[in-house]
Amino acid sequence: MNIILLGPQGSGKGTQADLLAKHFGLKHLSTGHLYRQALAKKEQAALKIKTYADKGELAPDKLIIQLIKNHISDANIFDGFPRTLEQAEALDELINIDFVIELSLSDTEAVRRISHRLECHNCGAIFGAEKQPKQKGTCDVCGSKIEQRADDKPEAIKKRIERYHEETEPLLEYYRPRKIVHKINAAKNVFDVFTDLKILIEKHSAL
Ligand SMILES: [Zn+2]
Repeated sequence: MNIILLGPQGSGKGTQADLLAKHFGLKHLSTGHLYRQALAKKEQAALKIKTYADKGELAPDKLIIQLIKNHISDANIFDGFPRTLEQAEALDELINIDFVIELSLSDTEAVRRISHRLECHNCGAIFGAEKQPKQKGTCDVCGSKIEQRADDKPEAIKKRIERYHEETEPLLEYYRPRKIVHKINAAKNVFDVFTDLKILIEKHSAL
């Protein structure tokens, strides 16, 4: 089973992908996590992506596709990929997609959530209004300091949301004719969104 989660930043894609991966025994393919792991192992694609990331630019689609290609398995859940039409077309060459689930969230709520977000410098764990650290300013996972990311300032957030509307949202139309597109209200709390996702997937699959 292959599932794509689409949604703006702040919609909880990463958290939900993690929960679903554990529940349904899928491999969670997050472009961000994958990039960091591959970089640590000095994989070619990751090293090339780094030259763009260092300049604050998005890497070309073909590099992202290469990175994903190297790590794809039989059953996957994708978060943060595909992000563009070119990536979606490349993914179609590799696997069959069973679900495309839109985690729908208003721009206002996305901005509110992201601007409250704190990240651990050391392990990358994310905290926010819904997932408060046990001790203020400290990462639950590794005990390092957590802070707002530089690119979580209002202007940068707006830009990323615009980019989502322009580049990623059209993927819903790309997949829609296959009748695999579903929509979930991501404004609910983490547990309720997860429950809705589980019910949706169980209902539409032969598991
Ligand atoms: Zn940490």
